Amino acid sequence: MSDDQPVPDTTAGPTLHLDLREPHRHLVGVSLRFTPRTLQPELRLPAWTPGSYLIRDYVRCLEGLEVRQGEAAIPARRLGAACWGLSLACLDPVVVRYRIQATELSVRTCHLTADHGFLALAGVALQVSGERWHPHRLTLELPGGWQAFVPLPGAGDGSWEATDFDRLIDSPIEVGPHPCHPFRVAGVPHRWVSWGGDLPAQDPAWLADVERVALACCDLMGVAAPASEDYLFVLHLLDAGYGGLEHDHSSVLQFGRRALAAPEGRRKLLQLVAHEYLHQWNVRRLRPAELTPIDYDRVAIVPGLWFAEGVTSYLDQLLPLAAGVGTEKDLLEDLGADLSRYLLTPGRHVQGLRQSAEEAWVKLYRQDASSPDSQISYYLKGAVVALMLDLHLRRHGSCLALVLRCLWRSHGAWGRGYHQEDLITAFADQVPDLAGLLPHWLESTDDPDLAGYLADVGLKLVPEPASEGFLGWQLEEGSAGPMLLRRVHRSGPAERARLQAGDELLAFDGQRLRRPDDLAAFVAPSRQGELLYCRDGRVRTTRLTPDPPAVARWRLVIDPLLDDERAREKRQRWLSLQP
Ligand SMILES: [Zn+2]
Repeated sequence: MSDDQPVPDTTAGPTLHLDLREPHRHLVGVSLRFTPRTLQPELRLPAWTPGSYLIRDYVRCLEGLEVRQGEAAIPARRLGAACWGLSLACLDPVVVRYRIQATELSVRTCHLTADHGFLALAGVALQVSGERWHPHRLTLELPGGWQAFVPLPGAGDGSWEATDFDRLIDSPIEVGPHPCHPFRVAGVPHRWVSWGGDLPAQDPAWLADVERVALACCDLMGVAAPASEDYLFVLHLLDAGYGGLEHDHSSVLQFGRRALAAPEGRRKLLQLVAHEYLHQWNVRRLRPAELTPIDYDRVAIVPGLWFAEGVTSYLDQLLPLAAGVGTEKDLLEDLGADLSRYLLTPGRHVQGLRQSAEEAWVKLYRQDASSPDSQISYYLKGAVVALMLDLHLRRHGSCLALVLRCLWRSHGAWGRGYHQEDLITAFADQVPDLAGLLPHWLESTDDPDLAGYLADVGLKLVPEPASEGFLGWQLEEGSAGPMLLRRVHRSGPAERARLQAGDELLAFDGQRLRRPDDLAAFVAPSRQGELLYCRDGRVRTTRLTPDPPAVARWRLVIDPLLDDERAREKRQRWLSLQP
């Protein structure tokens, strides 16, 4: 009836307004408006962002929080490090204002400068209790000449609308005077935005290749079109750096300009594109049960991260070739580099694959000098096990792509989270002996039968010995400055000589050591001698006896003894991802 009092529209959900008009101050002005549903709402800032398994305590960048209801200031009582409670007298709209310091440049943090802005909204948007599953509106105020690139549908009035809080914080925001390149994948609109260099302008074939790789991802998943209905790529081209983060409707990529200029740079970036794009299915929509729904306040133990990241890391190397970009030679080199890295990581005999996934939060994302001796990345070993799985399945007439498609149909397409047992069942449904073999690969710290599986496709791993004796240490990078030990290998010559990370090398057998090259000149060939070094400001001596040269790297090559027509055909089908 027309003369009723207007009732507040509580279904509308919160509005997040971000003021970015003074980018040189690196401060984002935030105001969050909502109509409370209870008299005691709580406000919480996420502690981490999905896809990056580390408690980041984003609240360290939040300052100046104040709450108003109409003219009245409302005290915000701190209930936890990133949580506030309000006590209201009525349900009138509330406005929360605060600032976010945006000075950290990564794919999962906030960075606002005179050149651009990037916001990972997990570090910006307070979650209002009871509002998580309601629509959230986003509005932005930008410096003159800047545009916003947001993977959310526009609401028609210059604002954007997220179906719920999860969708909001799954939407990274890039702002700046950047060019934007629209293109389509299977008819679905896509945008490419780069900061730090306009890649599609510099490389006219770039977007066509990205489109090919995106289509290869769709083929792999057995679908006609991408899962997103509107997709945004954001690339930060930096002097140096590497990273990517997946979202339902976007990817954020960081890549070094110098790395891009290297001969393998373009294909490495295309692999990163393939990786994050495939995550659109694997991990975002085909999601571990432990992340369904996501708890933004605390750690979630996710045993299936080996599948989410390992399988994606394995496939990202094959997808460009499957898309018709690149050569078999380059692909074998890249696969060989991963296998080599795996075989040269002693920590694989300490930490199993499931354990690596479960310890992501405290190990992979918190590396130190001893990490290579005590852990193995679930990306790296996950990719090695994915390769073994693919070749095992192919021995029996199936392949990894078919398992992914089955899991997509049974879980991903329905938003049903999977457990570790579901993964094992999906593999065993294709080849029954994987019901025993896969759990063994997940638990064991022994190497799988790499040589046997590679022989199926006419390949073998060949060791390349180092030219010098093995000292069992790694130096801090940088040719200038003191020669500091970054890492001392477990059970190696340096450890036997009682050296430790942080020690500064001074001289060997009376010869001054000034730069890494001096080691080759004085220490090699393998002979023992007296090493002068400095620890904690005190100069000391020790006897150092190098071991014989170790394997410097492994190369993946075609084995002429195995390379018959059958192996060639199998290899060609495998590398082009054909079942
Ligand atoms: Zn990934």
